[in-house]
This record gives sequence, C-alpha cells and structure tokens, in this order.
Amino acid sequence: MIPMVDLKAELELLKEPIFNALKEVLESGQYILGSKGKELEKQIASYVGATYGIGVGNGTDALYLALRALDIGPGDEIITTPFTFFATAEVIAQVGATPVFVDIEKETYNMDPLKIKEKITDNTKAIIVVHLYGQSAKMKEIMKVAKEFNLKVIEDACQAIGTEYDGKRVGTIGDIGCFSFFPSKNLGAYGDAGMVVTNDKSLYEKVSTLRNHGSQIKYIHSTIGVNSRLDEFQAAILLIKLKYLDVFLHKRKEIAKKYTLELNSLLKAPSIIENREHTFHQYCIELDERDQLATFLQKNDISSAIYYPIPLHLQEAFNYLNYHKGDFPIAEIAASKILALPIYPTMTFEKQDKIISMIKKFIERKDQK
Ligand SMILES: *Cc1c(COP(=O)(O)O)cnc(C)c1O
Repeated sequence: MIPMVDLKAELELLKEPIFNALKEVLESGQYILGSKGKELEKQIASYVGATYGIGVGNGTDALYLALRALDIGPGDEIITTPFTFFATAEVIAQVGATPVFVDIEKETYNMDPLKIKEKITDNTKAIIVVHLYGQSAKMKEIMKVAKEFNLKVIEDACQAIGTEYDGKRVGTIGDIGCFSFFPSKNLGAYGDAGMVVTNDKSLYEKVSTLRNHGSQIKYIHSTIGVNSRLDEFQAAILLIKLKYLDVFLHKRKEIAKKYTLELNSLLKAPSIIENREHTFHQYCIELDERDQLATFLQKNDISSAIYYPIPLHLQEAFNYLNYHKGDFPIAEIAASKILALPIYPTMTFEKQDKIISMIKKFIERKDQK
C-alpha cells in the first residue's frame, strides 16, 4: 500500500542523530521548559523571520493561546474559513467567542478576502486566516481589510511552515502566527507539539505566561492559564528535522510539479499563483467522480484522503451557530470533489509513476463509457 505519508522512511534517514538527541535529553534530567525548547523557539522564530517564538503543546493550543493573548472572549466575533481542520474554529468557541465563517476562493481553497467585509459587525475582533494545504492565503488583501476595520490577524500556519508570501514567511504577516508539529505536518515531531510566533513583545509575554498556568515566576500566578508546553524530547527531534526542512519542502514541490504536469489536462490540479507559494502539505485534486477514484486507488494499493469532507458550518458541533447547507457553496462543492494524493519527501519516482498511471487508467476507462 502506498501511504499518504511515510514517517518510517523519514525516520530511517535521521535515525542516528535523533536517537542520540533523545538519549541526551533522557540523561539531562531536564524534560520540560529546558534548553532544547528554548533553542527551538529561537531557531523557529529565526527560520520564519519573527522576533519571538513560544513552544506550546500542539497547534490547537497555539491558536487558543493566540486568542487568549489578544484578550478575545465572550461577545467577540472572529472571522474564519469553514474549509479547514476543525481546530481553527474550535478554539474560537473554546474562548467563548463566536466563529463567523466566510466562503473560500475556488482556486486555492483559502478564505476569499472579498467576502470578509460583509461579515464585519461592531463585535468583530479578529480574523483567523488559514494557509490551507501549505499555500499562502491572499494576505495583502486580508491585511488591508483588517487594518481598515481595526481587526487583529491570527495566522493558522499549521500546514504551511516555510511558505513564502511577498518576501516573508507565513506566520509573520499578521499579529501572531501558529504552527503545529503534529507528526504528519511538514515539520513533524514524534508526538504533539506546536509554536506561536510574533514580533510583539507584549503578545510574547502573554503567551509565555498563559502556556504555563499564567505564571512567569514559580508559584506566582498573574492570570488563569493552561498547561501547554513543548517538551524537551519533541524539541530535540524538531531541532534535527528543522535542518532538513528546506530540502523536504523542495522535494514536496518537485513531486507536486510532476503530478500537475501529468494530470493537469485530466482533472483540476492545484493552482500555483504568483506571490503565493505552495509548499504542498497536501496535494489535492478535484473531480466529480472523487469517491469512485478513491475506491479504484484503494483497490490498487494506493492511499488517498479527503481534507475535508464536511465544511465546519455543517458540523454538528456548530449547529448552534444556525448555518445551513448552501451558505458557503464553494466550500461545500470543494468538500464533495476534493481528493488528496500521497505526497511526502521520501516518495520514490516508481511509486509516483504508479499513482499517476492508475489515475490515468481510471479517467480513460470512465471516458470510454
Ligand atoms: C493540524 C492543524 C491544526 C491543529 O494542530 P494540532 O497540532 O494537531 O493541534 C490546526 N489547524 C490546521 C489548519 C491544521 O492543519
């Protein structure tokens, strides 16, 4: 079976340095908020071009803590996309605020900046923009609306570490950026981990305090926080993997280029847009016979996946928001047609050739009918 990601093959490449780093942490006796975590915060901040990095427990907590640091809570409305992983909107509800969705662009599946204004009210405080699948959202336009209406911008860059937009890396364009190091992400740990980045000293101090029980000095608590820290083992692993991130992102782009070259004339391949880099956390195609293709690939030992089958406004958990089918037609159509193909840095040409030829076979067979 060709998997969606091959974490084992990636581990084989880096086994020795990773084992050594884990041994070092194990013997150091320092497991939480130690020197590896501090070094990772420094290196990730420098990699993305931010002043500060704060290691946290996972990407969801990164988003939650970003909202908390911006003092967002009950009565506030936060604009976001309905076509993303659940966590993006979940955290808005977790702080007691209300998610307000806007539809996406057909070409990139990212929030459509032209649809933001009509959703702004006196209660709107911020926008959570997602760089979906690794492709930058239309940041210039989004930042312009945010500035006009005095809204904060949180970047959910969980799928897009390293992606460039207009000479900057995503996560550093808005007020605060959030990253996930979930194992299958483009920079993945071997467990949960995440990071918040910002150029704002006061936001940095707030997130650092909130992630550690609202405390900067042991047993002195200035606010109600949470326990969400990036542990030393994960930091040690990420410090090693970060060295390979650019090489791995390049590999992803090469694989994507080949998929597009071979499949573009047969189905809807991802759009590459100037100034909006795509680092291909996912390579998603679109076609009417999506489910039949997935079944056909499965029968031929090829994995595929649907990100995401149900837009957030139609999730049961958000019934209380009173959205309906038809409210965000572009997101709904995408959810019904999209299919992610296997993509990972260690994918061989043979494997990719097999995937491409099977997709061609499926489409030719269908065309004969
Ligand atoms: C993975 C992901 C998250 C959540 O990250 P975790 O580390 O799994 O908590 C949030 N938003 C998006 C868009 C993601 O892809």
